[in-house]
Amino acid sequence: MLSRVRGTRDIIDSRLMLFAINAITKQMQKYHFKQIITPILEPVALFKRSLGCETDVVSKEMFIVRSSSAEQGSDVAQGDDEICLRPEATASVVRAFIEEGIQTVPWKVFLFGSMFRYERPQKGRYREFYQCSMELIGAHSLAYDAQLISMLDRLFRQSLTLEAYALHLNFLGCPEDRVLFKEQVTVFLEANLAALCETCLKRKDANILRVFDCKSETCQQLYVKAPLLTDCFCEECDIEWCELRHQLEELSVPFVHMPRLVRGLDYYNKTVFEFVSPLLGAQSTFCGGGRYDQLVKNLGAKEDQPSVGAAIGLDRLVLLLEAVQHTLDFTYEPKLFAIVPVSEEQHSLALQVADALIRADVCVDVFFDGSVKNMMRKADKSGAKAVLLLGGDEQKAGTVKVKQMQSGAEETIKQIDIAHYLKNLS
Ligand code: ATP
Ligand code: MG
Repeated sequence: MLSRVRGTRDIIDSRLMLFAINAITKQMQKYHFKQIITPILEPVALFKRSLGCETDVVSKEMFIVRSSSAEQGSDVAQGDDEICLRPEATASVVRAFIEEGIQTVPWKVFLFGSMFRYERPQKGRYREFYQCSMELIGAHSLAYDAQLISMLDRLFRQSLTLEAYALHLNFLGCPEDRVLFKEQVTVFLEANLAALCETCLKRKDANILRVFDCKSETCQQLYVKAPLLTDCFCEECDIEWCELRHQLEELSVPFVHMPRLVRGLDYYNKTVFEFVSPLLGAQSTFCGGGRYDQLVKNLGAKEDQPSVGAAIGLDRLVLLLEAVQHTLDFTYEPKLFAIVPVSEEQHSLALQVADALIRADVCVDVFFDGSVKNMMRKADKSGAKAVLLLGGDEQKAGTVKVKQMQSGAEETIKQIDIAHYLKNLS
């Protein structure tokens, strides 16, 4: 037997996932975002340039794709870019914005899809996982950040009835602020070299702010005493950070300031945030985002377009929904009716009756194989409200015998009246 690839999943009962996708789509439309679709295959260079070569995603987690003809070196020889399965979607959206020559800003878009990262699979962490990514490209004002965050908070709390979560918020300042901050952190780390883990020692030289993302307890204890980014803000950032908190308070969006939240990708500046839930265990973040003011220009646009965005991890969101599913109306399915032709002679009639009912918006399932008893059993198991029996007598008389599953009551109805009759069945 061939089994699925490590870190991927078959989602057999997809009702909660589809419910989440539906609720998110409705919410995004209310805030006037347009749904787009971008390729799963992207050039590796796109992520090297946007996320940064020193991030975990680019340095360790990329799925690089090769065609079988590339074995002879032909693809590379023809000058094709190295290709990968996208690990995230922000860079793709920015690429599309530039490549498609979008002129109207803010460009408010969202997309659903699989992302791929070569990570160690565990609960809430997969190699193929699902995200809803949303971006506002060309959105200079920080009020856009406040609205994006409040839209997400309303989605989780109101539409999806989640309660056990918190919003972690931080402000990374502008590049100039971070030059000053990085100097201070370097001095701090140099003075505490012996206490640092291997990863932090490497990050100190390669990408210093990422040390704050360290999972080691001892490092995190040390960083409590580290310099604070907020102390390095320029006047403008000071005002913006203050204003952002004020706007969220005015909108009644509860948040916790996490001064050492940096997030894993290099392109962020100013606002960064994460929605976390203790119910998720170690993989507690189910949505993360922030502002990226330099990315559009870095990826080749002539003009700078300050932007902000977020991504919801659908796999983790669904884990949270499982705990509250009794409060959600996600099981809604239309009333089902089963059609059972008594012999092969009635197969064609069964197809016609089913076709007419479906055209009249009635949900039907037709059973063809096996004995009548067997088909009746399958009809019962399928959850059908009633079975429509079609035998020789019914065929001759132009009728249908309707047997209600719960009461066992039987009635003979004219074929032309059947849709109307079923719709009125309580
Ligand atoms: P983490 O710290 O959990 O690895 P991240 O910072 O790498 O998350 P982002 O790149 O910000 O994650 O992606 C946004 C969201 O996508 C995360 O908050 C999470 O819910 C989800 N996500 C990221 N990686 C995975 C994965 N391997 N499996 C399932 N969901 C994931
Ligand atoms: Mg990660």
